[in-house]
Amino acid sequence: MHKQSLHELAHALSQGKFSSRELTQHYLNRIQQHKALNAFISVDEELALSSADTADLLLKTGKANPLTGIPMAHKDIFCTKTLATTCGSKILANFQSPYEATIVTKLREQGAVLLGKTNMDEFAMGSANENSYFGPVKNPWDPERVPGGSSGGSAAAVAADLVPYATGTDTGGSIRQPAAFCGISGIKPTYGLVSRFGMVAFASSLDQAGPMASSAADLALILQAMAGFDAKDSTSVDCPIPDYSASLNQPIKGLRIGLPSCFLHQEVEAEIQQAILEAVKIFQQAGAEIVELDLSLQPLWIPSYYVIACAEASSNLSRYDGIRFGYRSLKGKTLRELITNTRSEGFGDEVKRRILTGTHVLSSGYYDDYYLQALKIRRLIQNELQGVLAKVDFILGPTTPTSAFKLGEKLTDPIQNYLADIFTVAANLAGLPALSIPVGFNKGLPIGMQLIGKHFSEAQLLNCAHYYQQCTDWHQARPAYKG
Ligand code: GLN
Repeated sequence: MHKQSLHELAHALSQGKFSSRELTQHYLNRIQQHKALNAFISVDEELALSSADTADLLLKTGKANPLTGIPMAHKDIFCTKTLATTCGSKILANFQSPYEATIVTKLREQGAVLLGKTNMDEFAMGSANENSYFGPVKNPWDPERVPGGSSGGSAAAVAADLVPYATGTDTGGSIRQPAAFCGISGIKPTYGLVSRFGMVAFASSLDQAGPMASSAADLALILQAMAGFDAKDSTSVDCPIPDYSASLNQPIKGLRIGLPSCFLHQEVEAEIQQAILEAVKIFQQAGAEIVELDLSLQPLWIPSYYVIACAEASSNLSRYDGIRFGYRSLKGKTLRELITNTRSEGFGDEVKRRILTGTHVLSSGYYDDYYLQALKIRRLIQNELQGVLAKVDFILGPTTPTSAFKLGEKLTDPIQNYLADIFTVAANLAGLPALSIPVGFNKGLPIGMQLIGKHFSEAQLLNCAHYYQQCTDWHQARPAYKG
């Protein structure tokens, strides 16, 4: 059952080849067998089976949608009324949300069967999923390696076929980078396409939710259900949502694909460069034109991203004070001690590092030198990318400079961790949509290719990725890991 695409699963369910209850039980068993991956923070079997029964009734009456009865998981950053919403942190370890995120509602209304919540870096800060209060996630391609982060639990769960699809969030690469490390497909939509309501905030001007699945065709189906205006999110954009599945299979001929020279330099592993150039050939053979690009501001992507992301995080995380919700330290005697002890005990090291950095760059005296400068550079980066995207349809390159690294390898060196997102942060800074799909292997580990498109060009991006997946079968490869 777990070898099928979403379209195949939907078809099998509608034909009564198996019920949603049987399918759900099958995936619940797989989650149980693969517990050692630590991909899930919580699983609710009873709830999943009862949603499956509801879906089976809908399927019988012919009122089903394409996602009805198909099991899935949410990254534990999305508020759900049923399971706890921990955000990978001790400070929210027992947090029970009184409301649910808009995308949780939307998928639930499509009949999606929620199996559980996936592990993640604390507050989505990280590139290795080693910053979770609930322990690291293992990469199913090699359990001694990281799955990428921060949506590492979602990526590992999809790669190991513990769920057909999962949600993720991407502030600087957290959908695309783990998708690349785990050999799956993931898309970060245009800022404002998918509602952020009920998604625990990390850096509000960069955060976007998106789907993670096996193929671009699957992503199209899920994104359809997730996208759309939401009055509860002031940055949500009210624009028509195209039919993403119907937009697949458009011709590639005549597309202009930009290849930035800075994406293929000596620090990118040779096998990765090779796989990207092979992928480029496939588009060339289909009649796409390849245009060499110069992105002169690329060296400023990471520095400006980390100033802005930390600044926003320090502000967003000020709400965790132990008073209103979440963990509370019982040690202090005064209000000040209560708040200080709560935050000292409740947050992990990386979160504290970011709060300190963010508070520093926002403090009077440093604001102009760091935060304001970063905002100005962000505008220049946006202008450069938009200028380039006026001339080409997509920017193509590797998602990451290396394949999945060993657990612990970069744990003590935050800068090395930050550099894992060297190619992904620009799309967030400019609010552009970007996806990652598997394009080969590097010593047995998956390689991801990133495509960045113009604002609201998800349909074209998915079409391009789908074309590539029609010509290749990297996206069908699965790890030998047996749990
Ligand atoms: N790795 C990046 C960071 O730690 C991106 C995280 C994300 O996209 N949530 O900030």
